[in-house]
Amino acid sequence: MARVPVFDNHVHLRPDGHHVEAAKAYEKAGGTHFMLVHSPHDDFVGDTPDWERAYDRTVATAEAVRKETGVQCWVALGPYPVHLVRMAETLGVERGVQQLIKGAETAARYVEEGKAVAIGEVGRPHFEVSDEVWDASNVALEEILGIARGAGCPAILHTESADPEVMADLGAIADRAKMPRDRVIKHYAPPLVKPEECHGLFPSIIASRKHIRKAAADAPGGRWFLETDYIDDLSRPDVVMPVDTVPRRVSGFLQSGDLGEEMLWKSGVEWVERLYGVHPEL
Ligand SMILES: [Zn+2]
Repeated sequence: MARVPVFDNHVHLRPDGHHVEAAKAYEKAGGTHFMLVHSPHDDFVGDTPDWERAYDRTVATAEAVRKETGVQCWVALGPYPVHLVRMAETLGVERGVQQLIKGAETAARYVEEGKAVAIGEVGRPHFEVSDEVWDASNVALEEILGIARGAGCPAILHTESADPEVMADLGAIADRAKMPRDRVIKHYAPPLVKPEECHGLFPSIIASRKHIRKAAADAPGGRWFLETDYIDDLSRPDVVMPVDTVPRRVSGFLQSGDLGEEMLWKSGVEWVERLYGVHPEL
């Protein structure tokens, strides 16, 4: 029997977490490919991030996954927006923004070298911050989206929780950066999949039962990704979904008929190819 494509668009793995073992659990549950998003837990050396050292760790993790499992994975690299909160205090907002931009430029170079396929997660803090940090985050985001456009790759956004208004605002920032909206993936989205809800952005949906059902019903064409945002932090085991959530939900919903196989091919293969320019092999 041909395999069903099972794609998680947002997985973090840490060398001090379950690391490759988590990818093995994902594979065992039926997962076929995933996007490895840079884990920002160890970016700083002193007051400033060392982007190359940090990104090399994620690139090495992806290589280990490819070597030790049958799961395909690709890499997204970027300056985590919450870092600006810390840097605003230690370096000042302006230098903090410069560091984020440097992080995006370094990520773009890794994309050009074929080590990564997307810039992310980038965006703005998901919690209340000072006006100064908020405004600076938006300035940085516009610049970073321009860098992603220049690198010819999509961007994965981390922001406050989304509603249609937030999606419209993020879309306007993309427009100012001349980054096509459909190259901007909103990570951790509720199922805002209808055109009037997602405003052209590409939604990556938290894989809860409720959300998957709604995404499948509202956008049967599969213009969405599923994700866990697995963080692989051993000290916070219950913060997000287990790493095998997407494969378990997909197989359950295939059996119940909530998801069709064709929908999974669209979401997990066609859109993966179109957005990231990679080719899942099944
Ligand atoms: Zn994340």
